[in-house]
Amino acid sequence: MSQTMPPSVSKSQPTRIKQNDVISSVADALQYISYYHSPDFIRAMAAAYEREQSPAAKDAIKQILVNSRMCAEGHRPICQDTGIVTVFVKVGMSVQWEDATLSLADMINEGVRRAYNHVDNKLRASIVSDPAFDRKNTKDNTPAVIHMEVVPGHELAIALAAKGGGSENKASLAMLNPSDSIVELILETLPHMGAGWCPPGMLGIGIGGTAEKAMVLAKESLFEPIDIHEIRERGPQNKLEALRLELLDKVNALGIGAQGLGGLTTVLDVKIKDYPTHAASLPIAIIPNCAATRHVHFTLDGSGPAKLDPPDLSIWPKLTFTASPDSTRVDLDKLTAAEVAAWKPGQRLLLNGKMLTGRDAAHKRLSQLIEAGKPLPEGLDFTNRVIYYVGPVDPVKGEAVGPAGPTTATRMDKFTDLMLGKTGLIAMVGKAERGPEAVDVIRKHKRAYLMAVGGAAYLVSKAIRSSRVVAFADLGMEAIYEFDVKDMPVTVAVDSSGESVHETGPAQWKKRIGGIAVHVEA
Ligand code: SF4
Repeated sequence: MSQTMPPSVSKSQPTRIKQNDVISSVADALQYISYYHSPDFIRAMAAAYEREQSPAAKDAIKQILVNSRMCAEGHRPICQDTGIVTVFVKVGMSVQWEDATLSLADMINEGVRRAYNHVDNKLRASIVSDPAFDRKNTKDNTPAVIHMEVVPGHELAIALAAKGGGSENKASLAMLNPSDSIVELILETLPHMGAGWCPPGMLGIGIGGTAEKAMVLAKESLFEPIDIHEIRERGPQNKLEALRLELLDKVNALGIGAQGLGGLTTVLDVKIKDYPTHAASLPIAIIPNCAATRHVHFTLDGSGPAKLDPPDLSIWPKLTFTASPDSTRVDLDKLTAAEVAAWKPGQRLLLNGKMLTGRDAAHKRLSQLIEAGKPLPEGLDFTNRVIYYVGPVDPVKGEAVGPAGPTTATRMDKFTDLMLGKTGLIAMVGKAERGPEAVDVIRKHKRAYLMAVGGAAYLVSKAIRSSRVVAFADLGMEAIYEFDVKDMPVTVAVDSSGESVHETGPAQWKKRIGGIAVHVEA
């Protein structure tokens, strides 16, 4: 996605760029990508929806598309995780600064600060400083991760993304031997990534350079538009294009599917960037991008701030989300352990009533209190309650809560035995699979794990009627809230016998795909 270019200025003089043009362009661009998916992404996702044959995956893609349109119309974030800002800047060597008092990095960070604290569309501040120890939220989502390059020319070109933590956490680097197979590495890596990166999305692959160069290449590749369908139509014109097609088809044939539920589309495109490397080395970086793929590009040439045109809403398919008629209504206020133990894998539920929330920092504090034999904070009681792993966006304009989709459940695996064994908790809601340790614990305690769709945060938030902080208010979005929900759609992902739809779904679809063409045409 890129801007409408402002009128060009004479290039006989060096370009003079104003500080505030950089700041306001960055702020506007971050607001823009918080609620607009790019047209190429929508078209590819809509095509994946059309051809999906797995009912669970089709339902998940539908939720992602409906959520996307709601966000485009309502100007609210596509996902509760509004990302870590990643910026690639190309500074023309003829650029001069008209009135700069800040460094270029500080201008960009000021733009981030303004975007994330926008009064009409406040975005979630997710960045913590002192990452190894205190992990203190910086409150304005700064600093951005900025890559700068000085190039010939008169312009300042900025590409920026808001990268979700769930997909960034699945990044990996392998230093292969030159004779090793890149395809084999990627096909071995994908199943181990689980679904915490919220597929369907994109894979960014960096090949060559050094370890750090390969990672930067992989990240940079994700800024390119989805065009694999064009390559398939005209045929690959070089070896990298042929490799992209081979990887797309082979990754999709793994059957992982939307949200890891098993299905035809795991990736919408595979992007590759390469760079010369040492004769002894073959660095391969893999970075996935999720259902909330968000990036935009613009150029400043001294004539004013960038102007980004809104996308044409007619490109979104006309879909509405209604809960499956076979869904079971659950009254959370009267829920019993016996009812939870009777839920079946894949069963669709509509949750109603009061539900507690909590994620990484709250679980850490709870475990410290429990292990020290101390009481939980006053008013916090997990007996026969369900916990939702979520860090919501702050509400604006009368909302009960901002976008509030699930976060990756595996990060809470190590606390699960304690929570199920010591607090009276009887079920959990999150996104993606549970690890083997948590599945064993769920089986042991005869509880259940439910999944909501990652990347459908605004849609999910519409089921939340009220919200109040119950404990750890100082943790901000990581505090423990009580949500009152009405018909919140979830699926039983791990039942009380330990059967997981994230195991059975992909296995079933991997087998079935043997007989189905897996091309995704956009
Ligand atoms: S779609 Fe999933 S991985 Fe992406 S930002 Fe949202 S929760 Fe994170």
